[in-house]
Amino acid sequence: MSNLHINFRSAQFLISASRLKQCPDDSLAEIAFAGRSNAGKSSAINALTRNPRLARTSKTPGRTQLLNFFQLNVEGARLVDLPGYGYAKVPLAMQREWQKHLNEYLEKRQQLCGIVLVMDIRHPMREFDRMIVDWCLASDLPLHMLLTKADKVNRNATTNALREVRKGLPKHPEGQITIQTFSSSKGTGLPELERQLVTLMKPHLLQEEFEEELDVDGEVDSSADS
Ligand code: GDP
Repeated sequence: MSNLHINFRSAQFLISASRLKQCPDDSLAEIAFAGRSNAGKSSAINALTRNPRLARTSKTPGRTQLLNFFQLNVEGARLVDLPGYGYAKVPLAMQREWQKHLNEYLEKRQQLCGIVLVMDIRHPMREFDRMIVDWCLASDLPLHMLLTKADKVNRNATTNALREVRKGLPKHPEGQITIQTFSSSKGTGLPELERQLVTLMKPHLLQEEFEEELDVDGEVDSSADS
């Protein structure tokens, strides 16, 4: 089996896409980051990739497109930065246009193996967040909630926020929604986030390997490394 060790530090900007048909067709496993504007999404991506400038790419004029793809060291493994919802400087008509294409991406993208929903721990589960939760449940897609800026609240408030978010979730299959606290500035929660992303991506990457090992008769090639 080839090396599937995902190193998030390897992330590099690949391409921007404003609609589904512009998305790269050689992706195998994508994790998309969603969140309201100012929730801390860019900071979380930068902390994960240890690259303080990476997600700024997505805020650069001309690249404020719908989807920004970042390539990881494993072939076909990618992070996708979705536009911050409710960004005041974006005209409403353009936001609606985004929404349409975003829905299309979320609904149709086969390579999508999970969503990370970034929320400010002090203001979780606003309207946009609920929409993402409902969408993930309807589409059977794993959702990892990142309650970020945890350094801004004390232990009691952290416990309360976790409890409230869990309590407010619609009924869902066990394991489909996971949740953790996080701080980009302190690096708290990074190992847990990395573990979760690898868990979500691996089955998609392994599936591809397995298919490659099938010979023309559909038999597994016994000479392939296991
Ligand atoms: P985005 O619009 O969701 O991409 O949000 P940003 O990542 O740009 O963050 C919005 C603001 O929150 C910025 O001023 C960040 O410095 C701040 N911020 C983001 N994450 C954290 C965090 O974990 N702790 C603290 N203290 N501030 C944060």
